[in-house]
Amino acid sequence: MKKVFVIGSGMGGLAAALRLQHMGFSVTVLEKQARPGGRSNVIEENGFRVDTGPTILVMKEAFEATYRAIGQDINQRIDFRQLDPNYRIYYHDGTHIDLYSNMALLAQEMVKIDPKAPEMLFRFVGESAKKYALGMEFVDRNYDHIIELANAGAGIKLLQTNAHQNLYRQVASFFNNNDKLAKAFSFHSMFLGLSPFNALAMYSLITYADLALGMWFPMGGIYRIIEDMVQLAGEMGVTLRTNASVAEILVEGRRARGVQLESGEVVEADLVVSNADLPYTYRKLIAPQHRREYTDRRLQKMEYACSGYILYLGVDRPYPEMRHQALYFSEDYRANLDAIFVHKTIPDAPSFHLNNPTITDPSLAPEGHSLLYVLAPMPNLEGKVNWDEAAPVVREKLLAQLEKLVDPDIRQHIVWEREYRPTDWQNDINAVHGTAFGSLSHGFFQSSYFRPHNKSRDIDGLYFVGQGTYPGIGMPMVHLSARLLAERIEQEGLQITSVRQGFHG
Ligand SMILES: Cc1cc2nc3c(=O)[nH]c(=O)nc-3n(C[C@H](O)[C@H](O)[C@H](O)COP(=O)(O)OP(=O)(O)OC[C@H]3O[C@@H](n4cnc5c(N)ncnc54)[C@H](O)[C@@H]3O)c2cc1C
Repeated sequence: MKKVFVIGSGMGGLAAALRLQHMGFSVTVLEKQARPGGRSNVIEENGFRVDTGPTILVMKEAFEATYRAIGQDINQRIDFRQLDPNYRIYYHDGTHIDLYSNMALLAQEMVKIDPKAPEMLFRFVGESAKKYALGMEFVDRNYDHIIELANAGAGIKLLQTNAHQNLYRQVASFFNNNDKLAKAFSFHSMFLGLSPFNALAMYSLITYADLALGMWFPMGGIYRIIEDMVQLAGEMGVTLRTNASVAEILVEGRRARGVQLESGEVVEADLVVSNADLPYTYRKLIAPQHRREYTDRRLQKMEYACSGYILYLGVDRPYPEMRHQALYFSEDYRANLDAIFVHKTIPDAPSFHLNNPTITDPSLAPEGHSLLYVLAPMPNLEGKVNWDEAAPVVREKLLAQLEKLVDPDIRQHIVWEREYRPTDWQNDINAVHGTAFGSLSHGFFQSSYFRPHNKSRDIDGLYFVGQGTYPGIGMPMVHLSARLLAERIEQEGLQITSVRQGFHG
């Protein structure tokens, strides 16, 4: 059996391991941390079980496809509940609206802001659907040559849908420049680490995916999916080694021949797949003489996504009036985003994502308690913020907002608390510049063909899976990335030389 080493057990790394093992490879996953999952991880303490990273599950089909590919049905193994409304949007002036996936309810809700909003909404959703269809043409494939990007039909659709325009401006124009509605329908690009003021209108496709395809929650939390993937991997014969940090990818001639662990152990393989951050992999795990394409200089000049500060709170009260998912937008949204993306400083008035999974699954906290997850996007570590000083300041600002939105007495009811800072992603999972959602941002020249490919051009037998390669950031995208990797390896399968023939015989 041909041997594959997967460096990293993020969701994409695990999805790749399952697919490759199913294809007949002998797969070993090497994970730096004590617990698998990467950015999608969990803290279990004092009766609370909180997802540390992703909480918003859209495009469920991408998850289902991974399971189908190995002969399993994810819906038989995990109990998914649809969330509708998807989010409650809180504005700085004390008002809020609920963003329903049910269009009739959503239209009714928007009338609170503008009586003409329903008509504008239907036009916006129609146009976003076209962008979604177009966007999937770009992300749902492997690339080898730039010519594959020059699809005449797609070019025409790009112009017809004005997907090349600025996201915030275009969304605002659909909603008669109403700032509240523009915020509610443009923030989604933040999930890719991109400011809506600096993103392509193409990314309305994420808003469409949210609204039209629905949002889901696996009972037990997102980490339930990681646990299930790990269980399946074990049953299928994948070896998972945790606390196994890779120090170097070994290259002989032009070929990856295995890896060396931090412990000094050397393991040989036919293929090496890195699920660790791609710029980190090139820069830290591959000696410079083996990589002409991704030099240190080029890696340094790439654009990196934002980071985040998260507060996890266990509270000894239920809040049944809350929604499972919510967003709070500060008044000066532009100043907030420019602080993060342009000036790389702490925003004066942070906007944030507020998640209360105990609304859907009370078992995630002791009886009668709530679990709150407050994620404020923050600059990545290129910004040189001193997080020992900044973290208490940001925490204070977030608690002050929670007093207004959730409970004026919330501080007295906090019985358990943890936080996560940009420096933690750097230290824990080798995230370059402490980026949260993924390492490379999704500007035009770091998307589809232009995003680093899933096969190294300099080193044979070295592949990538996860958010650093195409299609990019987010759980559904890393599942898609695992499929594209498997398809690529399958196409090349016959040319793979086994370890035995290559190095010993
Ligand atoms: C706070 C937060 C909120 C998010 N919210 C959402 C959301 O709501 N919805 C959504 O879809 N997505 C969300 N995302 C993004 C999503 O979680 C990621 O894009 C996705 O999980 C990345 O998966 P991956 O397969 O690329 O691997 P990663 O999760 O990036 O994991 C990489 C793994 O490689 C390991 N590794 C690194 N270096 C080494 C080494 N030298 N040796 C061995 N192992 C190594 C790391 O320890 C890690 O386990 C969020 C992310 C964060 C952090």
